[in-house]
Amino acid sequence: MFFVYFVVKIDPRRANGHLWRAMSDSPAPAAVSMDAIVALAKRRGFIFQSSEIYGGFNGFFDYGPLGAELKKNIRDCWWNDMVRRRDDVVGLESSIIMHPKVWEASGHVAGFTDPLVDCKVSKQRYRADQLFFAAVVVDGQTVGYVSALESEKTAAELQAAAETFKRKKAIQGTLSPVVAKDMTEAKPEEIALIPSPATGEPGSLTPPRAFNMMFETHVGPMRDSSAIAYLRPETAQGMFADFKNVWDTGRVKLPFGIAQIGKSFRNEITPRNFIFRSREFEQMEMEYFIHEDADWAKCHEEWISWCEAWLKSIGLPASHLSRYTHPKEKLAFYSRGTVDIMFAYPFGVQELWGIAARGNYDLTQHANASGKPQEIFDEGTKKKFVPHVIEPAVGVDRILLAVLCAGYAEEDVKDEKGNVEKRTVLRFSPRIAPVKVAVLPLLKNKPELVAVAQKLHEKLKRKYAVFYDEAGAIGRRYRRQDEIGTPWCVTIDFETIEKPGQTFTLRERDSMTQKRINEADLFQLLEEQVY
Ligand code: ATP
Repeated sequence: MFFVYFVVKIDPRRANGHLWRAMSDSPAPAAVSMDAIVALAKRRGFIFQSSEIYGGFNGFFDYGPLGAELKKNIRDCWWNDMVRRRDDVVGLESSIIMHPKVWEASGHVAGFTDPLVDCKVSKQRYRADQLFFAAVVVDGQTVGYVSALESEKTAAELQAAAETFKRKKAIQGTLSPVVAKDMTEAKPEEIALIPSPATGEPGSLTPPRAFNMMFETHVGPMRDSSAIAYLRPETAQGMFADFKNVWDTGRVKLPFGIAQIGKSFRNEITPRNFIFRSREFEQMEMEYFIHEDADWAKCHEEWISWCEAWLKSIGLPASHLSRYTHPKEKLAFYSRGTVDIMFAYPFGVQELWGIAARGNYDLTQHANASGKPQEIFDEGTKKKFVPHVIEPAVGVDRILLAVLCAGYAEEDVKDEKGNVEKRTVLRFSPRIAPVKVAVLPLLKNKPELVAVAQKLHEKLKRKYAVFYDEAGAIGRRYRRQDEIGTPWCVTIDFETIEKPGQTFTLRERDSMTQKRINEADLFQLLEEQVY
């Protein structure tokens, strides 16, 4: 969601110099390291840096064979649950480049900005609300300043930097504990005294200025200002601009939602934390239109609960999820309430899904700017009104990163000979696992086994993403599947061909237990678990 009320976007969680990570009710970040996630994502073909052969392109990513499957599964689950399995939500696919007036009416042209700070010496650019500083106070006197970039260690880094500063300058006295503030809170006279993180020296940082995050392009053969258009920074405006089209043609009645999945683009100043904050990403947004007199708070709460339940249904543990309610005084004037569902990523507890009650602001803005009324007629009261909206907005890439982090584990297990070895496993829910089942003939040089395995593979792949693998020791093949999160392996062994009633060995990823299963029961299991 986007609030036009602020000149700059200031994350209320970081306001007043209190790092949000200090929030005591937040769940602990996942124990896994981001390095391990990034390495696995590359090694097994989930995610690559965009344009890697040219040195990469900051803020852009490619999804490899397994990543593309995983992402598609997340999208499909959302679409099925949000649109197809509900009677009150319809789908939409609007264009990425819309009339520039859409972005004027929505407030993005004037106000979709982040506060930017330049370092004039190093030419580095920082988001002001991610660049922290603290006064070095000795015996009650400010003797200088230190700075650090936002990370899970910011407060500790500032404290250490203050101690080093005092020691280097040989200042005697008692150092006060540092109070971290971000650059949006710096007083004009402080800015010249705060050292740049790039050079360590004061004097080169500029005051924060508003930087519009929309990517511009030109439409048609002219490249002048009359041809400027924007790559959409959110999908939501498509739903508002098409509200009347859907209302007039969709046989819908209030309350109802319009949902969309699609790419969005933001020229983030500091894309970071892998795919968490990138410049091209994918959103799944839904605008739920309600009567102006409806109980919006109840509806808001129902959607927050729905979103939480959905995240759990694709395998995110409740222990990693929490809620953050935006304080009333920080909301835009039109907003009635916003709650973010937060996820405990390895780099901290961060926004995953925002659910906002936006009143009728967006439709009213478009009605005023276009001159086309966006009202509908209430048969009961015989009055016209502009519907209000509840908006759950989430990023596919952030969900994908969350399922990677929550599912990743390294374990000590025993091989067939009893030797302890490491296994890396991705505990994906069967709903989103890129490969649902691996079909493995025990030996590749036994045509009887291979023939049954290939037949089963052919049958399964008509409905599911299946992997056929006949190379190497069976234990190693299981490990390869564990590492890409395949919930089940089916091994075609001698019992399959020798005993009546053709059964296979079904090996379960998480428990590593094995049991015999026949084909009908295998299909039944998949039918129940992959939905
Ligand atoms: P943030 O405060 O993290 O920048 P936001 O509040 O601006 O996010 P919204 O405008 O509410 O985000 O967008 C809805 C959702 O889109 C977010 O909850 C997030 O999941 C996703 N999203 C937003 N910006 C990015 C980005 N740069 N990269 C990846 N996903 C994003």
